[in-house]
Amino acid sequence: MREPNLFLISAPSGTGKSTLINSVLAMADQTSLPLELSISSTTREPRQGESDQDHYFFISLEEFHKLREQDFFLEYAEVHGNYYGTSFEFVRSKLESGVNLILEIDVQGFRQINDLDLSYKSIFILPPSMQALEDRIKNRGDEDATAIELRLKNAKEELTFASEYQHIIKNDSFELAAKQLYAIIAQDDAYQDKNHEELQQFLAQLLSS
Ligand code: 5GP
Repeated sequence: MREPNLFLISAPSGTGKSTLINSVLAMADQTSLPLELSISSTTREPRQGESDQDHYFFISLEEFHKLREQDFFLEYAEVHGNYYGTSFEFVRSKLESGVNLILEIDVQGFRQINDLDLSYKSIFILPPSMQALEDRIKNRGDEDATAIELRLKNAKEELTFASEYQHIIKNDSFELAAKQLYAIIAQDDAYQDKNHEELQQFLAQLLSS
């Protein structure tokens, strides 16, 4: 059996990242691959349907800063005006118990972990188009216009970091994207990234639209 691993997954809001990750968690369950999604702490308000300790540990800004000062976080970042952080202890205990762990983090968090002496695989997920991304962000309907604008602006900025990741997946076909993500996580030796040049061209196209 291989050593449990950390998988850093980033994607702009509206890329369908959470749905893909949920699908991959279900696939892992079916194949008895020990895989979990790390639960971060955040100062953001819970959205409808989200519960504490399940989706996030929802904490106050004061609490967040206190934990940050105590070096509680492996990485943390301010994203869209809220703070998010990964607990060092959470990650350590999962890996030690043999569980592969997905960190769904933004590009700033990825860069911080990149600077640490840790073994991980990094994956960036691209939306099928800028229009699809915009539609998804707007149709979520749970944030005001300013928050939506901020997410859109940040989405474009985040895309400029995609090339720093070891793997890039284009989420145009959900089934295919989920299969590709699972193959990377299950460390399937037969898996090969899609044509790198084609993906780079697509990324350039997204950035110019
Ligand atoms: P949301 O508010 O939509 O749940 O998440 C917003 C962004 O914060 C997403 O890009 C997500 O990947 C990122 N994020 C969630 N948890 C963490 C974390 O613990 N650390 C970092 N750096 N980013 C996070």
